[in-house]
Amino acid sequence: MLNIVIFGAPGSGKGTQSERIVAQYGINHISTGDVLRAEIKNGTELGKTAKGYIDQGQLLPDNLIIDMLAAKLDSFKDSKGVIFDGFPRTIAQAEALKQMLAERGQKVSVMLDLDVPEDELMKRLILRGQQSGRADDNEETIKKRLVVYHSQTAPLIEWYKNEGLYAHINGLGALETITADICKAIDAVK
Ligand code: ADP
Repeated sequence: MLNIVIFGAPGSGKGTQSERIVAQYGINHISTGDVLRAEIKNGTELGKTAKGYIDQGQLLPDNLIIDMLAAKLDSFKDSKGVIFDGFPRTIAQAEALKQMLAERGQKVSVMLDLDVPEDELMKRLILRGQQSGRADDNEETIKKRLVVYHSQTAPLIEWYKNEGLYAHINGLGALETITADICKAIDAVK
């Protein structure tokens, strides 16, 4: 089983690279952001709660996200592995993921840190907002999301280094080059 955590600031290319990894390795993909946007679109209770946090650029409470992730994980049948995109985003979530996988006789194989400079992140997110109309891709909310990233999510870099699972990926450059670097890191742990 290949359990990959794809990590990085908002706009670092997690979603784009995840699609390529899924195509290459035939594993399942969980994007917490995509799941939450689908809940919002469907008008569910979770969606209503999620919208409030997302519009403010804040993270949802850990327990909500952890329960949502466990349910999604158990919905996969005959899985070859999973790429976790947008999760974990806090130390508590990383600990929950470790436990959740251990209960299923599994573990995280590697954490890929897509590293992109802040000015480039800002440019990409503003462009994405103009093209996709994603409500949280406006300058004010992007700034809040980057603050949240630095305070709550970036500490996971040290956490995964301590676990011996960290792989640095240069997230700047041609899409194909980044995918090739990612595949190298995955193949090294396969
Ligand atoms: P980004 O481009 O910021 O990485 P995502 O699509 O992954 O965007 O997530 C959008 C929003 O959904 C986040 O800003 C946050 O409000 C919420 N969210 C997604 N994943 C999580 C998580 N693991 N924990 C808490 N909130 C989350």
